[in-house]
Amino acid sequence: MALLEIENLSVNYGAIQAVRGVSLSVEEGEIVTLIGANGAGKTTTLRAVSRMLRAREGSVRFAGQDLGRLPPDEAVRLGVAQSPEGRQVLARQSVQDNLELGAYTRRNAAEIRADIEQQYVRFPRLKERRNQMAGTLSGGEQQMLAIARALMSRPRLLLLDEPSLGLAPIIVLEIFSIIRELNAQGVTMLLVEQNAKLAMQNSHRTYVMEAGQVTFSGPSEQMVSDERVLHAYLGGQ
Ligand code: ATP
Repeated sequence: MALLEIENLSVNYGAIQAVRGVSLSVEEGEIVTLIGANGAGKTTTLRAVSRMLRAREGSVRFAGQDLGRLPPDEAVRLGVAQSPEGRQVLARQSVQDNLELGAYTRRNAAEIRADIEQQYVRFPRLKERRNQMAGTLSGGEQQMLAIARALMSRPRLLLLDEPSLGLAPIIVLEIFSIIRELNAQGVTMLLVEQNAKLAMQNSHRTYVMEAGQVTFSGPSEQMVSDERVLHAYLGGQ
C-alpha cells in the first residue's frame, strides 16, 4: 500500500477546472516530483492533499486513511505537512515563533523545544537569526524556514511547493541537498518544481501535468531523458 494514494482527483475554482481526474501515488521513502507548465494544476493538487482545498471529485488516501473531508489540522496530525510556495512564512513573527507555530498540533513543550534545536542544527543560518523577523530573511533563508516549520509537525509526508523559486543557483543546490538528507532520514516527499531537471535528478519518480491532467509518468532517471520531457520542459537540451 502506498503512503499517499490520489485517485481521480478533480478540483475546481468556481467554473475553472484546475485539476481533472488526477491519479498518483507516493510510496513510503520516495521523493516524487510533479512537473508541468505554469497553471498546470500542481499547486492545486498539493493543496487538495493538505486539505486546504476541497476536492470536487476523487479520493486522497494517506496511510490507508481517507482524508475525505478532514480539516487541514487533522491532516497535519495524521502526518501530512506542506511547505508552501515561496515566502509564505509569517513575516512579522520571529524565526523562533514561526518554528513554534509549526508545532501547533503538538502538546509536549519539551519535545517541541528539542525539535526546534534540531532544526537549528539542520539549518545553522536559522539559529543565528532566531530572533530576526521572518520577513527580513533572504529568499533562501525564508525557504529554509518554510521547510523547517513544516518539519516541526514531524510529518511522514512533506509536500514541498517550489522550494527553489527565486533562489540563486548555489542556494538551490543547498536546498536540494537538504531535501536528499531529509529523505535519507525517512521523510517521504511530494515535490512541485519549475526546475524540472534538478528535481528529476533528485527524485525517484516523476509525474508530468498538463492542463489539469497527468499526461505521463515514470522513474525520474528515465523521464529526464524522455523526448517529450526534454522538448516540453528542458528546452530540448
Ligand atoms: P504554477 O507553476 O504557475 O504555480 P501550477 O501548476 O501550480 O502553476 P495551479 O496554481 O495549481 O497551477 O493553478 C491551476 C489553475 O487554477 C490555473 O489556471 C490557475 O489560474 C487556477 N487557479 C489557481 N488558484 C486559483 C484561485 N484561487 N482562484 C481561481 N483560479 C485559480
